[in-house]
Amino acid sequence: MSFSRKSLFLRPALYFSILFLAVGVFSPAARSGVSDNLSVYVIAIDGLRADKLPSVPTPVIDGLIDAGAYWPEAEAVIPTATRVNFVTFPTGVYAQRHGVVGSSYRDRNYRFHRTDRPSFAEAAEEIPVPTIFEALEAEGVKTGFLAMKGYELVGGRGAAVQVEIRDYVPDSVWENRYEREIDGSEERSFHSMLSLNLAMAAKMAEAVEEQGLRFFIANLATTDYVGHQFGPDSLYYDLAVMQADRLVGEFLELLERLGKRESSVIVIVADHGFTQVLNPENVIRSPRGEPDIPELAEAGIVHSIFGRGGMAVSLHLRDPGRAGEALEILRRVPWVAKIYTEHPLEGRDGTLSEINFNHPERSGDFYLDIDPNYTHAFPSRGQHGSTADSDRLVPLVFSGPGVKPGLVLEGGGNVDVAPTVAAIFGLDPDEVLDADGSALTEALVQTGTLVPAP
Ligand SMILES: [Zn+2]
Repeated sequence: MSFSRKSLFLRPALYFSILFLAVGVFSPAARSGVSDNLSVYVIAIDGLRADKLPSVPTPVIDGLIDAGAYWPEAEAVIPTATRVNFVTFPTGVYAQRHGVVGSSYRDRNYRFHRTDRPSFAEAAEEIPVPTIFEALEAEGVKTGFLAMKGYELVGGRGAAVQVEIRDYVPDSVWENRYEREIDGSEERSFHSMLSLNLAMAAKMAEAVEEQGLRFFIANLATTDYVGHQFGPDSLYYDLAVMQADRLVGEFLELLERLGKRESSVIVIVADHGFTQVLNPENVIRSPRGEPDIPELAEAGIVHSIFGRGGMAVSLHLRDPGRAGEALEILRRVPWVAKIYTEHPLEGRDGTLSEINFNHPERSGDFYLDIDPNYTHAFPSRGQHGSTADSDRLVPLVFSGPGVKPGLVLEGGGNVDVAPTVAAIFGLDPDEVLDADGSALTEALVQTGTLVPAP
């Protein structure tokens, strides 16, 4: 993926002096607690592809980048889908450990399960690792998870405030969120999608102004709905990114009015990127009762596939002993772009372990990337879920007190968000989390002791 860098990579030295003043009064943290006035707000822009920040006008986020640290090609976790990465943000672990591999899966005995039943709250109890919400609440920091889609909340265990935006928008807006046209009008559909972000922005403001939250994860997801219906190459998608940038700006203005701007770290994340679907009508989806992959069914291989965002599927075999035969067939299936399997077979493109998606029960026998000429489940112009750069690479920004200004760094990923937040609050990530990622200490002024004076 190539980037056309904008002027945002010019870092005025001024920022160094401003930030130095802001952090110069830090005092060592007491190990027993976090500071009384520091806040961290994680704002996800759902489906914001890595190359979009450098190419779409985003003056507010550019300002955060100039004043903070920026990982322009951070990595989302596989499957590159919303619910998967929204459990990773608060836990810092890959799907192969948190277990939310998608909406549904088959276990090793080929039994069907959903990852969000019987309710998001009850599914959250099953997540086998601590969350950043629990860690911060234990220190007296009030936290919230502001979900656009609802199922993000499977990662929300411990958050005192949990929001589902469908409770705050008209039913018609909610029901039309995946419609490309309303009454024959694309513009009307686009405006309806934009209003979802406006509702989320209102909840972000309420969280700070009325509920006193000092940490939240919020999902501005209009970009995702727009990306699916119009495609990431569309002007609509770029406009949705610009709206998200403007809403971040309004949130910063609110913090300023409340006198909290200087004590707040803003984190910009994305759960996944986006791939433009070249032939949206080529939908891989069998009519009810038909086999998922006819080529396998013809060979008598009992199987099922589960969509992983639209650009990838998990393939589960009832008899894993037939994985070798299945691989031979899959290589001739026109929509299969890449084949990952833990079965030690010639001709695979990689192992599940290599993409950190080797859950002992839930990953299935194969993870298949879909060719961009096809898509799974519904005829979208944009999809995600694959291991391709377009889906996997996302921007990551930390900006505020305790973060070094003017850094553009390599690496970084969604598994690092929770550990870094813990470190900024003065907590030891290894003590309060059980993360696969780690605190991005190269961007922090003083890890473990970031307590700005009042
Ligand atoms: Zn998403």
